[in-house]
Amino acid sequence: MVEHAHEHPQPHDAGHDAPVAVDTRPKLAVWKFASCDGCQLSILNCEDELLQIAENIHIAYFPEATRAIVEGPYELSLVEGSITTPEDVRRIHEIRAQSGTLVTIGACATAGGIQALRNWADVDEFRSIVYAHPEYLSTLDRSTPIASHVDVDYELRGCPVDKTQLVEVLAAFLNGRKPRIPTYSVCVECKLKGNVCVPVATGTPCLGPVTQAGCGALCPSYGRGCYGCFGPQDSANTDAMTRQLTELGMTGADIVRVYRTFNAGAPEFAAASDALEAAAAASAGGGEPS
Ligand code: SF4
Ligand code: SF4
Repeated sequence: MVEHAHEHPQPHDAGHDAPVAVDTRPKLAVWKFASCDGCQLSILNCEDELLQIAENIHIAYFPEATRAIVEGPYELSLVEGSITTPEDVRRIHEIRAQSGTLVTIGACATAGGIQALRNWADVDEFRSIVYAHPEYLSTLDRSTPIASHVDVDYELRGCPVDKTQLVEVLAAFLNGRKPRIPTYSVCVECKLKGNVCVPVATGTPCLGPVTQAGCGALCPSYGRGCYGCFGPQDSANTDAMTRQLTELGMTGADIVRVYRTFNAGAPEFAAASDALEAAAAASAGGGEPS
């Protein structure tokens, strides 16, 4: 548990008139790896809450918000982005070593993000198409989540993360308790809101049954199917999901694409998409899927 006292004046030094203030608030650092910065922007979007947070936490390292840098160690680190370069691998170990609690924020940090699509492709080909001098790039052939490299104390899902969940994680840290973050599906949130079920009413595919709650069933509330940006829920039944998407008329290739979006690298979604590709390959070859 972390103390979060405010600035306390120290006793007067003999021969000095002004007391020396010591900032005893826990230090927060926000780090970026391969990402679009959207999750860091969600922190800044907390606006009113951010002022209250800043009273209780010393925002010591947050380059997206301020150039002022206070040296570590840090009691709390929030980490955005995935590991895609050898330098990232070195840096995340360094960050872990100087962080008391480390929380990963967003689909990039928790599942490799959209950039995990490279895990099914030839990264050298991507590199040579996009860059005039690919020889200057040092990159890994896979995009991996932070937890594949160091111990992570807590993961916050979403693309981007939800502002309310961010505030809950910070409040839980300050009070020395576990964050209250649901692990059930988007369908639960959707039903609690009284929404009409999109696939039932309109036949629109929806990943809500296999996706972790947290967004407040945002897309179904506007008549769109869930895109799965919070990643797989606990015990996601992707076999049943695949069957339902097929019944709604989606091809195997389309279903592969919906699993491989924001959380392509999440094990459950990766396995479901791999199974579809294996079945398609077996069917094209006239054999059984391996
Ligand atoms: S999880 Fe989404 S919003 Fe957050 S950094 Fe990655 S791409 Fe951006
Ligand atoms: S609209 Fe989607 S998230 Fe909502 S209940 Fe139906 S399947 Fe679940």
